[in-house]
Amino acid sequence: MHDIVIIGGGPTGLSAALYALRAGKSVLILENNSMGGQIATSPRVENYPGIPVVSGLELTDSLLSQVMSSGGKVDLAETTGITDGTDKKTVHTTSGDYDAKSVIIATGAKHRKLGIDREEALTGKGVSYCAVCDGAFFTGRPVAVSGGGNAALQDAILLANTSPTVYLIHRRNTFRAEAVTVERIRKIPNITLITDSKITALMGNDALEGIVVENLVDGTTRELQVNGLFVAVGFEPKNDIFSNVARLDDKGWFASGEDCRTFTPGIFVAGDCRAKGVRQLVTAVGDGATAAVSACQYIDCLPN
Ligand SMILES: Cc1cc2nc3c(=O)[nH]c(=O)nc-3n(C[C@H](O)[C@H](O)[C@H](O)COP(=O)(O)OP(=O)(O)OC[C@H]3O[C@@H](n4cnc5c(N)ncnc54)[C@H](O)[C@@H]3O)c2cc1C
Repeated sequence: MHDIVIIGGGPTGLSAALYALRAGKSVLILENNSMGGQIATSPRVENYPGIPVVSGLELTDSLLSQVMSSGGKVDLAETTGITDGTDKKTVHTTSGDYDAKSVIIATGAKHRKLGIDREEALTGKGVSYCAVCDGAFFTGRPVAVSGGGNAALQDAILLANTSPTVYLIHRRNTFRAEAVTVERIRKIPNITLITDSKITALMGNDALEGIVVENLVDGTTRELQVNGLFVAVGFEPKNDIFSNVARLDDKGWFASGEDCRTFTPGIFVAGDCRAKGVRQLVTAVGDGATAAVSACQYIDCLPN
């Protein structure tokens, strides 16, 4: 029986582990891919307070070794579900079942991809899924944003502060974003709206040099010289397997507040997997700490 099983070895899960271990609890982290989560794929992080520049891998390697040297355990297995028993929680995985007094779900999220050739090869070399994280790397250079919702329009507005030209490419001729944001974007001179269009190809070998855009109405194509492409076509939460222990909202996020609680006592949700406004490292590690402290209080039967 572990005190706490943490599902997900990203920044949230690792931070939760650190806090729980320092409170004297035994901790098992389950990870189905590679430790570190999304940020491990980012070559350069510049907005983590106190660390001017660091690669995502360096940051998570350092966090992982902090966790391991504090006594954390890891199993590289996929979690397939949780059963809430009367005196224990059972976490089902591809390498067997684990019993725990408390469980923290920190399974993160994946950005939806465009699904075009070489998207993966150019990720981190011009293709990005996070304008807040990577926009500053393209200061003074032309960029494009793909998407038509609030996130895409907000990304374009943000990028227009640092890039001379921002193309906003959207499949339809109406935007899903709030009307006030659409009005605002139309007035920004260095944002060009390209509607009824989709990106069909990425140009450049070692780094992005341009994109090919197809007009879906007349079938014509054109090339745009850009060094950055920000894909903002949504996230894909995969939380359904936990719907027996935690409520999901209509988009599939865990519907929990800042306290990371679920309707199941002893089960907490934290980080990018829960409904929240800002999905960043600082909010992830903050959630990890909150969930760990709550889990410790639950185990120790303390009021919280
Ligand atoms: C390319 C890129 C660059 C970014 N740059 C920045 C930046 O510069 N600054 C910043 O603040 N933020 C940045 N972010 C955002 C930041 O990485 C995330 O907000 C943060 O990683 C969220 O942490 P998390 O632990 O909640 O989720 P994740 O990082 O998504 O980790 C969740 C982990 O859970 C695992 N998992 C999922 N389901 C299961 C399962 N069923 N069983 C076992 N394991 C499972 C996943 O494999 C993953 O390792 C970036 C994101 C990306 C993709």
